Amino acid sequence: MARRERQDAPEAIEVVLRFANSELTEDNWRQVVASGFEPVGTGQTSVDPKRPIFGVSSFREAKEILDEFKETVSRVVDLKDLESPSAADLARDISERARIKVTGFGWDTESGRFYPRWATEHDTFLEALYAQLAIALSQTAGIARTLHRCSECGTIFYDRSVRPARYCSQRCRSRGSAREFRAGIHRRRARRRPKSRTQ
Ligand SMILES: [Zn+2]
Repeated sequence: MARRERQDAPEAIEVVLRFANSELTEDNWRQVVASGFEPVGTGQTSVDPKRPIFGVSSFREAKEILDEFKETVSRVVDLKDLESPSAADLARDISERARIKVTGFGWDTESGRFYPRWATEHDTFLEALYAQLAIALSQTAGIARTLHRCSECGTIFYDRSVRPARYCSQRCRSRGSAREFRAGIHRRRARRRPKSRTQ
């Protein structure tokens, strides 16, 4: 992904976005599943090709879990009304999958906050994805307004400015503007054509 010119997202959202925008292949699925799991605190960071990793034993299984997760993040992006039935469904789906529990508290020396340490019930890939999402949602006010889908490449990105954000990067903005410019020429031509017939 091209470097974004906009502000950096909070860390929990960065993790969510990294998974929501990742493409799984037969070659990289183990690395993708293993990446970003330090917060779970299992210490299982090495990638042993013979053993299931975070409860996932095949590329197909990993892809199924990740595809459903991407769909869930999309539902967050599309969330308009927090009092709607779809918002309630989304909250239930995330809670049911995250299986999150607080295991204790510790000091965050940077912010001076007393922060909760959390874990998930079975330390699985599925639980960790939804736990990260739940934490990201809990740490960011109005998150549905800060996550957007790039209208050019489909990447989901963070932007907390109020203006409607349409592009994830300068590159996509240039491509999008070029496309709109071409579409504008077509529209103008299309408008001109019928007129010339009547003359
Ligand atoms: Zn884009």
